[in-house]
Amino acid sequence: MNLAVDLHSHSGHAGGVGDIPLKSVSQTMKTKGIQVFGTGDVIFPTRTKELWGQLQEMKEGLFSLPNDDSLFALQTEIILSVKLKGYKQKIMAHHVVLFPNFMSVERMQCLMHKWGQKNTIGRPFIVSEDMQEQSDRLFGIKAIHPLVEIIPAHVMTPDGILGSKNNLSSISEFYGEFISEIDVIETGLSADPFMLEQVPELANKTMISNSDCHSAALNRIGREFTMLNVEEISYREIIYALRRNNVAFTAEFNPGEGRYYSTGHRADRPGHSEAYISSKQDETICPVCNKPFLPGVERRIKQLAGDYKAKHTRKFHHLLPLVEAVALTLGVKSITTAKVAKIMNIILSIWGTEINFWLSPIGEIEQKLGNILDDNIIEALVKIHRGSFTFGPAGFDGEYGVLKLI
Ligand SMILES: [Zn+2]
Ligand SMILES: [Zn+2]
Repeated sequence: MNLAVDLHSHSGHAGGVGDIPLKSVSQTMKTKGIQVFGTGDVIFPTRTKELWGQLQEMKEGLFSLPNDDSLFALQTEIILSVKLKGYKQKIMAHHVVLFPNFMSVERMQCLMHKWGQKNTIGRPFIVSEDMQEQSDRLFGIKAIHPLVEIIPAHVMTPDGILGSKNNLSSISEFYGEFISEIDVIETGLSADPFMLEQVPELANKTMISNSDCHSAALNRIGREFTMLNVEEISYREIIYALRRNNVAFTAEFNPGEGRYYSTGHRADRPGHSEAYISSKQDETICPVCNKPFLPGVERRIKQLAGDYKAKHTRKFHHLLPLVEAVALTLGVKSITTAKVAKIMNIILSIWGTEINFWLSPIGEIEQKLGNILDDNIIEALVKIHRGSFTFGPAGFDGEYGVLKLI
């Protein structure tokens, strides 16, 4: 059966966004059609207590609020930081970690303490002296329980393992012996499987997509998600599906929307009066302010791909959050207007969930909405459903891409 999962999020304890009630998260999951959601920040002690106090185990390794069928997996993000030979700067990379039970979370906290790592923020650091120490520690985390999974997060963004800040030429430089345990990677908002399949050492990994969101909003939860193929709904089955690449498809941002897709400088940088986007592959210095560029994801992929002939086998869809699609069709900027809510309610009353709407045959949209909504709104929804949209200019230097229908 298919299972829609979004396995990377953050609580209010990461980045100081304030409390995000699990009840609101569960409500948005239902609207979107996300069945299993990563809790975020589960090893941060205040968060652990919060989750332990509110959640109960519903299915093996999956948790829920009382009288509520939205399922949560125990999840955190950590930042691995290590000194590597041949690199002046510390190499840092974000990772998602999934745990099968609270006992494993507690053992992770003990390891953090034993290694002298502060565990005082939602997304804690694990700082290692060298690759050997880091590899030993990663094996230590895996040894907590056979179903603990460690997944390099948003691999191509500047904070991801292959991002431009690190400038590694291979992930094996970072993991050492632990490379044998990396079965799954997260695509991140600025890359999709088509791009990542071009990088030879990623080509055989399972590729998953998650929202990495810090909010319960309708355009955040499930903005990227993964449809897994499982035998039954349990944490164990999710991990097996990840390790065996039983991915039916991933739902992706159009990479051009991501904030680090192109290479360039924003208009508000010192020495700039307008933005500059580099179209030349060899341009490393900005001709406007003479400061170096941080290469965007598109450029990093080309560097890492070399002459490799990629095989493109993954199924994925480029999606917009429905609420944003509706706002766009109405020509309004805010997603919280009454008009947007009204159309969302109509769509949800017909299809049940947003994911059902996106997976329905295109003909159904005209057929079912024909007498209810204006033709121009239906036409725009059909275009978005079909993927007829682009981002111009694409995202760069921390700025999101600008959406256009085509
Ligand atoms: Zn991250
Ligand atoms: Zn510049």
